[in-house]
Formats: sequence, C-alpha cells, structure tokens
Amino acid sequence: MSVRVRFAPSPTGQLHIGNVRTALYSWLWARQTGGAFVLRIEDTDEKRSTPEAVATVYESLRWLGLDWDEGPEAGGEHGPYLQSERKALYREHAEKLIAEGAAFRCYATREEIQALRADYEVRHGKGFRFRSPWRERTDGDPNAPHTVRFRAPSEGDTGWEDLVYGAVSYPNAEQQDFPLLRPNGLPLYNFGCFVDDLTMGITLVSRGDDHLVNTPQQLLLYRAWRAIAAGTEPPRFAHLPIVLGPDGKRFSKRHGAAAVLEYREKGYLPEAVLNYLARLGWSHGDEEIFTRDELVAKFAWENVGRSPSKYDLKKFEHVQATHLREKKSDAELAVLVAPHLAARGVEVAAEDPRLVAAIAPVKLRATTLPELAEGLDYFFRPDADLTYEAKGRRKFLTEESAPRLAHLAGLVEAAEPFDEPTLESAITAWMEREELAMKHVAQPARVALTGRTRSPGLYETLVLLGQARSVARLRRGATLASEAAEVSG
Ligand code: GLU
Repeated sequence: MSVRVRFAPSPTGQLHIGNVRTALYSWLWARQTGGAFVLRIEDTDEKRSTPEAVATVYESLRWLGLDWDEGPEAGGEHGPYLQSERKALYREHAEKLIAEGAAFRCYATREEIQALRADYEVRHGKGFRFRSPWRERTDGDPNAPHTVRFRAPSEGDTGWEDLVYGAVSYPNAEQQDFPLLRPNGLPLYNFGCFVDDLTMGITLVSRGDDHLVNTPQQLLLYRAWRAIAAGTEPPRFAHLPIVLGPDGKRFSKRHGAAAVLEYREKGYLPEAVLNYLARLGWSHGDEEIFTRDELVAKFAWENVGRSPSKYDLKKFEHVQATHLREKKSDAELAVLVAPHLAARGVEVAAEDPRLVAAIAPVKLRATTLPELAEGLDYFFRPDADLTYEAKGRRKFLTEESAPRLAHLAGLVEAAEPFDEPTLESAITAWMEREELAMKHVAQPARVALTGRTRSPGLYETLVLLGQARSVARLRRGATLASEAAEVSG
C-alpha cells in the first residue's frame, strides 16, 4: 500500500514551528517513499478558525517548500479538504455507526451531565466518565437537537505500536461515551479526524504527543467501522514530543520566533528552518547540516527520539549561517538578497554579475539575508549616497591620511590591468618606498571606499567596486580627510 500522510492544522493563528515539524516528518516520508502528502484544514472551531489563518497555513508551507499533493488549492480525489465543507460526510458516517449500534443519539443536556458528574464526585471523588442514559433508550426524536455519541466499551484496553513511543495502551474504563457530532452537525476533533483519515486513505498519522490520549478514541472508531467495512485497518501512528523553550516549557513566542513567517521576515532561509526542525527530534549519526534532498534521503522514523528537544537559537543560527555560506550558490543568493537590497533603497538586478561576484566574500560575515544586504550595500549604492560610520570617519579620515588617500587614488587609476595582483604590487611597492604599514593605508582606504571599518580585503574591495568608483571614492575620502584636518586645525 502506498504511503499517504497528512498535515491537519487547525487554522487559529500563525503556523507554529513546533507544528510544522510534524508536517515536515510526514512530508519527508512521503517524498522518500513516493507517497502522497495531503493537506487538510481542521477548521470546525467556528469561533477560532479564520480565513486569514487558513491563508497563513498555505503561505507558510509554500515558503518552506512543503508542497502538498492533495488538499486545498491542489485538489485531489478525496476532497473537499476543509473540514467545514465535509459536514455531510460526517453526518453520513455518524448515521452508519448509529445504525450499527456503535453510536447513539444522546439528548442529555449539559445540566444533566453536570448533575451526574457532581453526584459521582460526591460519592467517588475524581474520575467521572459519562455513560449516557441514552445508550439504551430508543424513544428519542431524531429531528430534535441531539449529540451523537460513541458507545464506549468499559472493559479491556486499546493500544497500538507507536513509531516513536513503542507500545502504548489505555484502559477502556477511562473512556466515556465521547461525542462525535454536536447538535449543529459539526464533528468533534476525534470524529472528524477519524472520518477524514479513513476516507482519505491515510496510512500513517504523525502529530504532537499531546494527541496520544486521543488516539484510543480514534482506534475505537476504526474498530467499530469494521462492522460496516470489513478489513478496515487504522493507520500507523507516530507521536512526536513537543518542542521546548530553553526554560523547559513548551516553545512559544515568549522564547523567540515561533511563527514560520517570522523566519521569512527575519531573512532566514527555509532550508535552514527545515534542517533545524528536522534535527529537533531526529538524528542521523552526529550530522547537523542537511540539504532538503539529504533530509528526504536520510529521514527514518527509527531515528526519531522520544525525549523533548529544546529550541536553541544559537544552534539554529549556526545551521542558518552554514546554509547561507555553503549550501546556496551565489547566483541563488543574489535572487534572494535583491529584495532586501531594494528595501534599503539600493537597486541592483539579481542577474547583475557584479552582485553575484560581491556575494562570495560578503556572505562569510553574514547569517541572514538582511545582513547579507547590509554587507553588500556600499558596492551598489551611488557614490553620492554613501554614508560613513561616524567613528570610522573620525578615526581614519584624518589630516595624516588625506595625502595617502589621494596618492592611493592615483595608483588605483593607473593600475593596468585592473586586477588584484596588479593593485597589490603597485600599492605594496609604494608603501615600502614610503615606509608605510598596512594599518596606515588599509583602514582609511576602507572607510573611504565603503563608509565602514569592516569589509572584505582591500584589493578585493577595489576590484569589486571597479576602477572608476574606487578612484572617485578614494578622492572623496581624501577631500573629507582634508576637511577634517581644517576643522580640527
Ligand atoms: N488539528 C489538530 C491539531 O492541529 C490535528 C491533530 C492531528 O494531526 O490529528 O492539533
């Protein structure tokens, strides 16, 4: 049977990265096995689900590159893929279970159930399990408002072999006659999930381990369904430990960026987010860095751990920096960084070979795309717009450096061909003649050329800027330096 996995988020806000990890493992498994990754939106919580949150799910998954084979906007044979559009299907399944005697219509009001609970608690303390008086009654009016409930067993156990947790089992005595359909016809989570996983042919369910306690109810439903469709088999289950913050509490926005789209805003790479999330709970020896294709090839359920992992920003940033510096080509980075340059008011085409060339040295000092844009800024900003860091200007564009910068401009103008070796031999010969050390030349030149005190090496910076701009900036630096001299003198 081919693999069919799904991601079934409840669209009630931003898509959380802890939740995405469950999607990622399913997606990796589908891509590795040639199976199908299905997206289903569990939007039956009418108060909390919003169209914006649904749109955020699509946008987040698309940004991450977790494409779905079936689901909203992709179509498929098992649609619709929004639970709010599947009401008829839930009703139909509930009716079949009622006809089979596995479920029943319950007319007990909330107050009646409360009274039964209170009575139980007086006599036995905690542990009330609702067994409806309507389990055996047949005098209810099917047209009157009612809840459809499951006729829960009280003997025996319900268990399964979890891919992460191993053998898990819950006593049936813990079950109550759990609700399947509300009076308004909307399914409760366990029933909607069961009907959808069943009808969508899901073979493996991966989700957070907060759902361990729900799995027995879903398994009881599959078991009951065998009376309707012989041979019905439940999917396999893989429950994943939650992601923790550094303080050991569930990772949330208090701890850092919890929403997928925040990572996009901050200029992280989706590949780095996926790599880091994959490693939070899964291992492959002691390897840390994986491309998307390597994750697909190497992912294995056997290597998913049971203990919760802590989100560590430093580790994530290491993964991010490695992807930026080593796993992307400079041409790819050019496309990604161009909008960040535009946001700084620097227009340069992603295909511009000067941009691609400048990325190689600059990326070595950058972790995020905005940092990369910052490091590239002065290469593409018109000379007249170049700004200078105040401290660098004060320290290096001085009376002493003015004539040196002017001379350097002349050497750069005369360099033929205009390349690193020619520049280096001309400049070092001059420095030897004048008994100048690199520190007398390189820092003032750097400030004049880039406006900053940190940049790639002098010769590299000159070549990347080009001859004309280098000369113009060195001359402007010399002028600023002599002006500084007038002011201080
Ligand atoms: N909508 C549920 C959630 O987001 C889905 C759980 C499941 O995957 O079954 O937690």
